[in-house]
Amino acid sequence: MKITHRAGWILVDPWTIIENGYVRVCDGLIEEVGQGHSSGGHVIDHGPGAIMPGFVNAHTHLELCALKGQVSFDALFDKGFRLWVEQLINLRDAEEMENLLKGAKQGVKELIESGTGVVGEISTLGITKDILANSSLAGIWFKEYLGNNSIAKIRCNEKKGRIVTSLAAHAPHTTAPELLVNLKNVAKKNNLPLSIHVAESEDEIRFLSTGKGEWADFLSERGIDFSGWSLPVESPVKYLNRLGLLDKKTIAVHLIHADKDDFEMLLRYNAFVCMCFRSNHYLHQRLPDLTGMLDAGLKPCLGTDSLACVDSLSMFDETAFISNAFPLVPPSEILAMATINGANALNVEDSFGTLDPGKSGQFIYVPINATNKSGLLEAIVNADFKATPTSKIMLCGK
Ligand SMILES: [Zn+2]
Repeated sequence: MKITHRAGWILVDPWTIIENGYVRVCDGLIEEVGQGHSSGGHVIDHGPGAIMPGFVNAHTHLELCALKGQVSFDALFDKGFRLWVEQLINLRDAEEMENLLKGAKQGVKELIESGTGVVGEISTLGITKDILANSSLAGIWFKEYLGNNSIAKIRCNEKKGRIVTSLAAHAPHTTAPELLVNLKNVAKKNNLPLSIHVAESEDEIRFLSTGKGEWADFLSERGIDFSGWSLPVESPVKYLNRLGLLDKKTIAVHLIHADKDDFEMLLRYNAFVCMCFRSNHYLHQRLPDLTGMLDAGLKPCLGTDSLACVDSLSMFDETAFISNAFPLVPPSEILAMATINGANALNVEDSFGTLDPGKSGQFIYVPINATNKSGLLEAIVNADFKATPTSKIMLCGK
């Protein structure tokens, strides 16, 4: 089945933009992209706005959607990140499973209605795999592990719907080094990415560099014995490198407390970095050094993190926040972060992230008016769209 989709603008990728163009999709795959009129199949004219790749949201926690608005931020100002984590765990454990599942389904709906086509979902409880597999979203479902557990049989690389399963280690300050290495080895054997939170909070840095502090108390209270973790260690990034965790199949998430040396090390080992700026702003009142990362040559991707800490799962909200917080970063760079960089990190760049022929015919139409290419990029990055059932942003094709 052949359909030609026309629009005022076709954004093949942030650097390849066609005015008055079309995308011809055949049996769910892009067959041709061009300017003017195309003869071929049924023609749908979407309007004067832009057809662009669906967003890649590389870091979500859909099982926390039900906790939206419930976790207090006030505690952060005097007692630090530890108290927030405690609140989150207590609320999640007290929530009915039915509500957590309902929240996750609602989250998937919000992702799709706000233009996300590919997701990197982190699941601690293991409850979101089927919800994603039964949706139109593609991507990776990461089963997350932490603590001292020595897991005999860690499974991954299962394909369900458009979702592949892989592994996540929670973080260097919550996960024993042996388990970190074990998870990495299994993911590596399956040629799949491993996701891990790195250098997110001051509590993490203090704990790793001294073996003491609020986080040490927190782990002890929860019965996690870290006496064999060989603390203190150098920076979280250098520590992960020493354990052999950094390579082109590792996604390091957050990096709020990372410096030039860390960025250069991540680049040297071709590791991917994923930023969740709104989450960092709300939880830590501090943002990662995006300019430093870009200067070092890294190509960050983006995630919204969970609805327990941000008010939407919309990547439009994320790009608008970045544009406002880093006015010198070009809109093309921000859009690359929200599309192709995420596809590369999640290992799905052969099918998603740009509108090149041969890739999935999935795209979004953004109803926006622009008179030139730079105006178009500005308008998309700063678009104030809200996900609603009648949203005009749509995912088309397979
Ligand atoms: Zn996370």
